[in-house]
Amino acid sequence: MPEGATLRSTKPAGDVTELDALVIGAGFAGLYQLLCLRDRLGMKVRVVEAGDGVGGTWYWNRYPGARCDSESHSYSYYFSKELLEEWEWSERYPQHPEIVRYLNFVADKFELKRDIQFGTRVTAARYDAEANKWNVETATGDRFRVTYLITAVGCLSTTNTPKFPGLDSFKGDWYHTGQWPHDGVDLTGKRVGQIGTGSTGIQAAPVIAAQAKHLTIFQRTANYSVPANNHPLSAEFKKEVRDNHEEIRKVIQSTPNGHPFRISERNVFDVGDEERAEIYEEFWKVGGLRFRASFQDIVSNKEANDTAAEFIKNKIRSVVKDPKTAALLTDIDHPYSTKRPPIDTGYFETFNRDNVDLVDVKSAPIKAITPKGVLLENGEEYELDIIVCATGFDAMTGPLLNIDIQGRDGLALRDVWAAGPQTYLGLQVAGFPNMFTITGPGSPSVLCNMPVAIEQHVEWITDCVSDLREKGIATIETTTESMEKWITHVNEAANATLMPFAKHTWYFGANVPGKPRVFMPYAGGMTRYRLICKNVAENGYEGFKLSDAEDGSALPFLPAGDFTLAATVPGPGV
Ligand code: NAP
Repeated sequence: MPEGATLRSTKPAGDVTELDALVIGAGFAGLYQLLCLRDRLGMKVRVVEAGDGVGGTWYWNRYPGARCDSESHSYSYYFSKELLEEWEWSERYPQHPEIVRYLNFVADKFELKRDIQFGTRVTAARYDAEANKWNVETATGDRFRVTYLITAVGCLSTTNTPKFPGLDSFKGDWYHTGQWPHDGVDLTGKRVGQIGTGSTGIQAAPVIAAQAKHLTIFQRTANYSVPANNHPLSAEFKKEVRDNHEEIRKVIQSTPNGHPFRISERNVFDVGDEERAEIYEEFWKVGGLRFRASFQDIVSNKEANDTAAEFIKNKIRSVVKDPKTAALLTDIDHPYSTKRPPIDTGYFETFNRDNVDLVDVKSAPIKAITPKGVLLENGEEYELDIIVCATGFDAMTGPLLNIDIQGRDGLALRDVWAAGPQTYLGLQVAGFPNMFTITGPGSPSVLCNMPVAIEQHVEWITDCVSDLREKGIATIETTTESMEKWITHVNEAANATLMPFAKHTWYFGANVPGKPRVFMPYAGGMTRYRLICKNVAENGYEGFKLSDAEDGSALPFLPAGDFTLAATVPGPGV
């Protein structure tokens, strides 16, 4: 059980709570789904949440330096004009506490907490075909019987701690960034070792280095990072945002990655070397994920990507004073943006501090954790007081597979996904009627600014449930053929980018030993995806089987349409 959770039951054992819908998780997705089903459709709904507060991923990820990589004015719900007018962000990239404050503000404004059961972890969900109900169980013995089961469990909420031999023998303390103690950790005077240099490690290192006596960063794969250029938001900017919500909404809902900026239509080789260098320099100064917007083809053309990669490597070399450290940091084995591109505040500068060392654990991997610290295969041992595992997540599938979900005839989700996740639109799995997976595998989710992806999913599911209820439809359930068609398209979309060049990423599940290697998110772009989902619904839920509420008979089935890239304009993807 993650640290900080106090599981509690609200029901005597044996009692079953009957509901129209149960939502699992009280992060961005669960909160909005509750609001939509309860207040728009008038349904009896409950959210069940393992944490003791709202926030989902943000409830747990409170490591030093945790902040959002999406710009605050776009990392917001856009469904309520009033909410947009009432909330004001303080920084370009908000820190963890401000995001949690925002989600609490939303939950309080819409009186959501009264329908959220905190400190309760869902352990099992089983479909009863005869009753057309989902029976849901929790770790604390609660039982629910519901018509619709909606998972809002997040994509990055199950932590991944490598099975280092001897971890339990460590005499100091160790923490995973995704389960950081809620009271914080005092790093003053401590020798800290940080394993991992992904987005999290890159955010955490400068803050840890500023507090700790010494920081050793264990790097397996060197990573690109672009300065966030974070700053407090000016009164002018806040006013501009307030005056232009509608315009911002149009941008975030019509760009492939849901961010509040458009990607240039210019290609890298449309301009000469000198002009290109100036353009990169200009976007570097703007900073953050906007760097990727400098040219259209950075993520689809390897030669084009090489120019961006070299520009970033030169920047790293210009910052890091020790040539050996700079060489390790620039020995990057994948094209820029094929792993989720981190953004930072003083990451590379951190290596110029006297109290920071970089250790290469690619050439000499971590062999074990000893009582004293970290031992490498080459025999080197690093004595530490605290180990920070910034080692990522069992992404996208982990949170769902941690629940024993069984559909028709006891069909286990774990079995259906044994060779990798299969979904239709990332929204449903064949054999699991009336179950919806918000930002599930096969949807843009992590390749999009998350709240934008979430709002689209929640609204699609809400409209769908509303339709089912109005039209007297008992079940909606996708088919194996629809999933196969969708997966073919998901792979096609990934192959149109450079992402397959980085096969060792969590996008492929490659960070968790034994996890099937399948590209999980949809890289065809949020714009295209939004249109596909809209068309599917408007065409009578193509690719979904529907059954009549009166007698359970099957309604006419419309097979899934053509999802080839050519047939699904507009593009491009990420
Ligand atoms: P991650 O990208 O999976 O990075 C994990 C790091 O741990 C990698 O450097 C990995 O090395 C290293 N690692 C794992 N096992 C190891 C081992 N046995 N030995 C040595 N090193 C090991 O995880 P993350 O940094 O937590 O980020 C995950 C995702 O969360 C991001 O991609 C992003 O989508 C999201 N995130 C978002 C924000 C934000 O917006 N605020 C902030 C942080 C994270 P390898 O690369 O060699 O595997």
